[in-house]
Amino acid sequence: MPGRRPLHILAGLALIVGAARADPAQPAPAVDPQRDYPIRPVPFTDVHLDDEFWAPRIETNRRETIPFAFEQCERTGRVENFVRAAAALRGEPLGNRQPPGYPFDDTDVYKVIEGASYTLSVHPDAKLEAYVDGLIAKIAAAQESDGYLYTARTIDPEHPHPWAGKRRWERERDDSHELYDLGHLYEAATAHYLATGKRNLLDVAVKSANLLVSTFGPGKRSIWPGHQITEMGLAKLYRVTGDERYLTLARFMLDERGRSDGERTNPRGLTYNQAQAPVVDQTEAVGHAVRATYMYSGMADVAALTGDASYLKAVDTIWNNVVSKKLYITGGIGASGRGEAFGANYELPNMTAYNETCAAVGNDFWNDRLFLLHGDAKYIDVMERTLYNGLISGVSLDGKRFFYPNPLESNGQHERSPWFGVACCPGNITRFLASVPGYVYAERGDTIYVNLFAKGTGEIALQSGLRVKLTQDTRYPWDGAVRITVVPSRSGTFAMKIRIPGWARNEPLPSDLYRFEEATEERASVSVNSVPVDTTLDKGYVTVRRAWRAGDVVALLLPMPVRRIVANALVEADRGRVALQRGPIVFAAEWPDNPNGHVRNIVLPPSARLAAEFRPDLLNGVAVITGRAFGLSGTADGRVVKAEQDFLAIPYSTWANRGPGQMIVWLAATDAVARPTPYPTAATTSTVTTSEARRKPGAMIDGDEPRASDDPTSYFDWWPRKGGSEWIEMAFQKPSHVSEVQLYWFDDTGRGEVRVPASWRLLYRDGDTWTPVETNAMFGVEVDRYNRVAFKPVTTTALRFEIRAQERFSAGVQEIKVR
Ligand SMILES: [Zn+2]
Repeated sequence: MPGRRPLHILAGLALIVGAARADPAQPAPAVDPQRDYPIRPVPFTDVHLDDEFWAPRIETNRRETIPFAFEQCERTGRVENFVRAAAALRGEPLGNRQPPGYPFDDTDVYKVIEGASYTLSVHPDAKLEAYVDGLIAKIAAAQESDGYLYTARTIDPEHPHPWAGKRRWERERDDSHELYDLGHLYEAATAHYLATGKRNLLDVAVKSANLLVSTFGPGKRSIWPGHQITEMGLAKLYRVTGDERYLTLARFMLDERGRSDGERTNPRGLTYNQAQAPVVDQTEAVGHAVRATYMYSGMADVAALTGDASYLKAVDTIWNNVVSKKLYITGGIGASGRGEAFGANYELPNMTAYNETCAAVGNDFWNDRLFLLHGDAKYIDVMERTLYNGLISGVSLDGKRFFYPNPLESNGQHERSPWFGVACCPGNITRFLASVPGYVYAERGDTIYVNLFAKGTGEIALQSGLRVKLTQDTRYPWDGAVRITVVPSRSGTFAMKIRIPGWARNEPLPSDLYRFEEATEERASVSVNSVPVDTTLDKGYVTVRRAWRAGDVVALLLPMPVRRIVANALVEADRGRVALQRGPIVFAAEWPDNPNGHVRNIVLPPSARLAAEFRPDLLNGVAVITGRAFGLSGTADGRVVKAEQDFLAIPYSTWANRGPGQMIVWLAATDAVARPTPYPTAATTSTVTTSEARRKPGAMIDGDEPRASDDPTSYFDWWPRKGGSEWIEMAFQKPSHVSEVQLYWFDDTGRGEVRVPASWRLLYRDGDTWTPVETNAMFGVEVDRYNRVAFKPVTTTALRFEIRAQERFSAGVQEIKVR
């Protein structure tokens, strides 16, 4: 019942992209609308999408992913943790007192409740609502009498989770995640309250936040969250309750970070959780990427709610750093798996790109907030790129399998997973997807912002009291024609700001990190009732201000030729390479669509003619790019040959829905950077198994020549198993005459814990037994080269490598060759 609450409250709450059924009997919170984001999003409850891209994804999220994620939370003991904590509080004896899993497992339950709440506000479902109420009762019962809520301690305070510390909060800056859990609780509680009008989870959140307020602050304890999100959660709780102490505490937590008040250092370094300097003095995006984006989002919230511009200056500077030096073409961020972190400037490797799904979600939270502060379409450009590519890639088309990292190149070693031990990403996807319609429109005064394009309707309430219904008719992102029918509640003058995406203006990103290889002369056009309007841009928007009448039609045409993108020369991984984009969609070549299941050997020269077509039968209906390219392959005598072949690329976000195999976004534009398909040998056609059955061993026999022992692109290792005996068995397709093996060791000295082994030996299958090969050769363990062992020839069906790792280290292999 949005109409029954004061407009400014709803507008402020809209940032939480919820609204609908809050209880009108509750006193309206006294949040001053002048002290919040100047631009307000149109809540997703007022936007209905009926398009080909998002609507099916949102429905799959509701029907499949949310029930599946709840089921996983039950199956993996995450729900049971709350039940056990409640039993402990009642003094009941527990059998197993050790909390399983991680101390942040509580958040997965909170996140899925948040996602379920969003769907409930647009799709009432009594059964789901009752189930969520049952979960909330379990959560409430696990809360200690003073408001403390953290199952990893409450289950057994004498023996808490090893990361939790003996006393409350003492390890918060390291690993305990007590405040991280609560940040997600506050996000879930505000979403649930706004969706259902029920206070059951909000009351738990308020009791918890009151404990924080009485524990931390000036004259009390100092603190900053080891994993940010508490700040955003407190800001939302402030908006819902009007209790300014929550906002003050959020600000305190930001201001305490990076102060040299004798705080303990994190063993991973203070940059890991952005505590290397006071937040207002930070200029570069560093450390754990999810933590970082949540912090920058929290800084934007506090800046908007307090009017303090110093946070904004820092966040704007950091944003410029990311957009000009640390953003993938897919919109992913966080290049490095080490510490799940931002890399150095221009460090954007493709196969090892980390690009956590949660970091993509955080990147969109952050860019949305900066848009709401500045009203500049460049933030939506970044948000759209992430949304359509590196974020939605995190979930499979059937909604049941997920990516944690989202790399831009694969040799088949990457595969979606139904769930994770650390399950942050599936929960984040569920809550984000349910709220996607909330990013389409925004308003300020008498101005409507049209930010995203998708078939459907939006109901926008302007401050003048005018209500405007917009109906978009379009096949975006597959087609660039957008028709918007405007129906105001009565005739009136207002402005519509229509975003002209950067990609339609020869600007892939608002920086020089990427550029289109050739500028297009085709220009975006806008007309009203078929009369062209002036397309002079103001912060990326065409502004149409007029007296609107019901049935007026705005027609937008965004030309969508296939575009080639090249990266700044400082990005080493992309040199000599080209990426393909059409409209907002970034494309990838994947194994099922290209000759012989190979794509890393493709060369796409500038002369290759490319075209786009829509394939309704492929991947639930996608536009593809087709054309002719070249494929490189090795020959028996060691040469490389080049042959013209068909080429097909699919939207990057839809890769890995048809099984593991090669994929590439940055295609070779020259022969020199392509990876020729190796000539099949006894090794490359063999079946390899190892003493670590859970990890795929294919990288050892993929024919990919390592550049050095620490080449991170295509190797196998036994990490984190250290100091033990390991084995590899290589079974040939048919009995083979062999007399030599060459082994290239993996060794990541300087960044990891894998070293060349202490020793190894080689055996062959001899009837039912393994027999050592006869040789006087050394079994070498040198780095950066093949270690060759020649032996008395044998005819056999299999070889077995027995490897003893060094004490305290793991072992690993880049490549094995057999003759
Ligand atoms: Zn995650």
